[in-house]
Amino acid sequence: MSLEVLISSVMKYNQDLADITMIRKAYQMADKFHAGQKRKSGEPYIIHPLAVAGILAELEADANTIVGALLHDTLEDTALTKDELAREFSPYIAMLVDGVTKIDKMNFSSTDEEVASNTRKLLCGIIEDIRIILIKLADRLHNMRTLQFKSPEKQVKISSETMDTFVPIANLLGLQTIKNELEDLCLKFLDPEMYYQLDKKVTKIEADVNDDLYLMLSKIHALLVDNGIPNEIKIRVKSVYGIYKKMQRGNKLNEIHDLLSLKITVDEIMQCYMTFGLIHSVYHPVPEKFKDFIYNPKTNLYRGLHTTVFGEGDRLVQNQIRTPEMARTASLGVAAYWQDPNVVMNDVLRSRLQFFDPLVAINQSANDDQRFLADVRQEILGDKIYVYTPRGDIIQLPAGATAVDFAYKIHTEIGQTITSAIVNGRLVPKNTVLHNHDIVRILTHELEFGPDEDCASQCKTATARNLVLALCAKNAS
Ligand code: MN
Repeated sequence: MSLEVLISSVMKYNQDLADITMIRKAYQMADKFHAGQKRKSGEPYIIHPLAVAGILAELEADANTIVGALLHDTLEDTALTKDELAREFSPYIAMLVDGVTKIDKMNFSSTDEEVASNTRKLLCGIIEDIRIILIKLADRLHNMRTLQFKSPEKQVKISSETMDTFVPIANLLGLQTIKNELEDLCLKFLDPEMYYQLDKKVTKIEADVNDDLYLMLSKIHALLVDNGIPNEIKIRVKSVYGIYKKMQRGNKLNEIHDLLSLKITVDEIMQCYMTFGLIHSVYHPVPEKFKDFIYNPKTNLYRGLHTTVFGEGDRLVQNQIRTPEMARTASLGVAAYWQDPNVVMNDVLRSRLQFFDPLVAINQSANDDQRFLADVRQEILGDKIYVYTPRGDIIQLPAGATAVDFAYKIHTEIGQTITSAIVNGRLVPKNTVLHNHDIVRILTHELEFGPDEDCASQCKTATARNLVLALCAKNAS
C-alpha cells in the first residue's frame, strides 16, 4: 500500500478534488509526525495507518473516515494535539481521531469486568459516531493481519479479545467480509493446528466440487436467461472458521447445508422469487432449508432468499438469491450506506438497524457494565423469535419476550394500556411468553393502570422494561 494506491482506490468511488486534497494532506501530516517510528515488523510506521485507510477505502468509506484512519494513531503516539487537528482539518476530524484514541486507551484484558466495560465503550461508540467504530475495526483487522510479528503470548491475548469484542460488533454491523477475515485470523493464532488442517480441507473441497458446481452454475444461468432473467452467479465455499464452528456443534463436513453456495444476483426483487421457483423446478429442495430474508431481514440489514437443494452429484448446495443492492449490503453491512455525504449516518442507522434503539435503551437503563453486557447479549446478540401482527407484519423480539414487550415494540401507547393479548386466537394474560411464529393481537383499555413491576421484571427488552418502570413510578406518585 502506498499513498498513490490508496488515492486510486478512493477515486474509484469518489472523485471530489477537495476530498482527495484533504486525504493527501492527512497522509503528509501522519507521515511527518510518525517519522522515525517503526512497526514490530521493522517497516516504517506510516505503513499501518495507510493500510487501515486502504481497508476502509475498500468499504467505500467517505473522505472524513479515510482522513481519520490516516491520522488515527497520531494523538496517542506523536506530538500532534487535538487542537492542531481541529485547526488543520476540522473539529469533526479531531473528534473522530480522539474517539479512536479513547478506545485505544481501554485496557483490554479478559477479566469479565474489562470485557464488559470495553464492549460498552465500543457499542456506545456506535451511538456516538459509527465512523469511530469502523476505523477501529479496520485498525484491528490490520493488526490481526500482521500479528505474526508479536510474541506468542500477545498473539493469543489479542486474538481472544478480537473474538470476544470485535467479531460480535462486526457481525452486528453486517460487515461480513471483515468479520469472516477476523474470525479466520483469530482461529489461526488460537488453534493453529486446527486452522491449517481445515484450511487444507477447504482447498481440497474446492478442487473436488469444482466441476459439479460449474455445471450447476451454468445450468441455472441458462435457465434464468431462457426465462428473461439476466443474472450473475458466483461460487462460494464456507470460510474456515464457519466450518470450524459448525463442526464444533457436532456437524460432519458433508452435513453442513451451506458448505457450498451459489451467489446469484438478479436485477429485481420479483426476479429473486422467480429464480427461487425456477431452481426448485430443476433441483430438489432440502425441506426446511428455505429462508426468506427479503420479507424478514436479519438484524444486521442482511436481505436475500436462501434455499438449499440437492445439486449436481447430489451435493448439497445453498443458493443465495439477491439483487445488487442486497448483495452489496450482504458484504458491506452499514458501510453500504455512507456514500451520500448529505445523509447523516446515524439517521440511516437509526431507521435501518433494528438494534439501534434497543442499544440506546439498554445503555440508559444499565447501571453497571456487567448488566449492560448481559442485556446486550440477551436482547441484541442472543436468539430471536419472529412473531406476527394480525395483519402479518413481522416483529422481531429476543427469545423469551412477553406480550408486553410486543406491545411496546408496536407503540408506546399500546404498551402503556395493555390489558391482555390474543395469541393464536386464544385469550392470554399480558405476561405470557411468546413463541416463534405466534400471531399476536394486543387488547388495551385506556382506563387500565397498565403493566406493573411484575411485568417489568419479565420483560426481555430494555425499552419495555424502562417504560414500564417509569409508568409504575408515575402511578405510585
Ligand atoms: Mn492503529
